[in-house]
Amino acid sequence: MKIEENIYALESTKGSYAYLINDKETILIDTGNPGKVKNILKEIESLNINPKNIKHILLTHHDVDHIGNAALLQKETGAILWASKEDIPYILGDKSRPGIKKVASLILRSKKPEKIKSYNGQEINDIKIIQTPGHTPGHVSFLYKDILFAGDLVRNANGVLKKQPKMGNSDDKSLNESIHKMSEYSFKWVCPAHGEPLEVKNEWKQLLSNITGNKYCNV
Ligand SMILES: [Zn+2]
Repeated sequence: MKIEENIYALESTKGSYAYLINDKETILIDTGNPGKVKNILKEIESLNINPKNIKHILLTHHDVDHIGNAALLQKETGAILWASKEDIPYILGDKSRPGIKKVASLILRSKKPEKIKSYNGQEINDIKIIQTPGHTPGHVSFLYKDILFAGDLVRNANGVLKKQPKMGNSDDKSLNESIHKMSEYSFKWVCPAHGEPLEVKNEWKQLLSNITGNKYCNV
């Protein structure tokens, strides 16, 4: 699905969307559930983009439905794979995922990447890296032009932006703060992993008032 010129949600990853930005360099955001490498590569080719042009793979967080094809896609493309320093130990198996995430990773199983770099600046190309912890300790979101790539910061439930259920979040309070922090930025589109990309009007404000009431949030 084309969101704006040169920006796509990859249908082959529907359920846990990966997004492709085909700018000066081609960049992939998240990689979906495991087992989809062939279909992802096929879909990218069908957009007239050579997968070998992918220079960076940016992960929002360590959950297995986001890193599922990271190792194999890195191998296929030679791209640099990036994640936050807080989440890398979970991706490499040096730390075990808590509770329900552990169960998911045992069922879904993904290959461990050989090389992974931690974000060491504010931007990669023109993509702004914003720390939005709460769903995982090192969850990040990306802002590119007027599009927010939100990972699991929020999900789109039939046109309504919602938080991920509490039991899947490493720190629910800091997730609220991260959602609140994003209201400092302006964006027209929210592209979550779960649910469809959404052109936002009042939906972010609505989400904020749902999670914080009017206690400390002046929207
Ligand atoms: Zn997810």
